[in-house]
Amino acid sequence: MFYTMKLNVTVFVMKQFCFLLLVFGALQFSLKASAEKNQSHGTMEKQHTSNPYYSRTDTSKLNLPDAEWKRVLSPEVYATARQKKTELSFTGKFWDYTGKGTYYCAACGNALFRSDAKFASTCGWPSFFEVVRKGSVTYLPDRSFGMDRTEVLCGRCGAHLGHLFDDGPPPTGKRFCMNSVVLDFVADRRGSKKGE
Ligand SMILES: [Zn+2]
Repeated sequence: MFYTMKLNVTVFVMKQFCFLLLVFGALQFSLKASAEKNQSHGTMEKQHTSNPYYSRTDTSKLNLPDAEWKRVLSPEVYATARQKKTELSFTGKFWDYTGKGTYYCAACGNALFRSDAKFASTCGWPSFFEVVRKGSVTYLPDRSFGMDRTEVLCGRCGAHLGHLFDDGPPPTGKRFCMNSVVLDFVADRRGSKKGE
């Protein structure tokens, strides 16, 4: 009788223990998933906090040596912004993106394009027919790779953004062919037209 009771108590305790283990495991899993989610969500902000030159409000020009950009930018942004690397078509995060908002320079936060000026291009890179304001980008002739093209650079920090072509849609007929990696997108807030 005594042993049966002891056995019952032992089984009961073990059951409770298993239940607690299960709950604890589920809690651990959920905490881990939540941490991972926050981490991936915060990647962009993390990059900006390590870049003291990034500002969506300061429009003063930046003239920094490449070594400084290398220190504050992610390797991917640095490769395009400072070393003029072109991302592979149809691979960037914005080539077919249709969200409403504003695109900023990923290196310095300068406003570049509104989503209203983005059009569905078949080239595989995000394409716009006009910039958000005069002076938001600058231009340079580019005769590399045996081609005669116009390079588009950020008007604030001089980052390489992409190229400008004359085969865009009305009303401008221009096609700003950009690299997704050097663009940041900020969605419009509800009830706000300009996302400010
Ligand atoms: Zn910039």
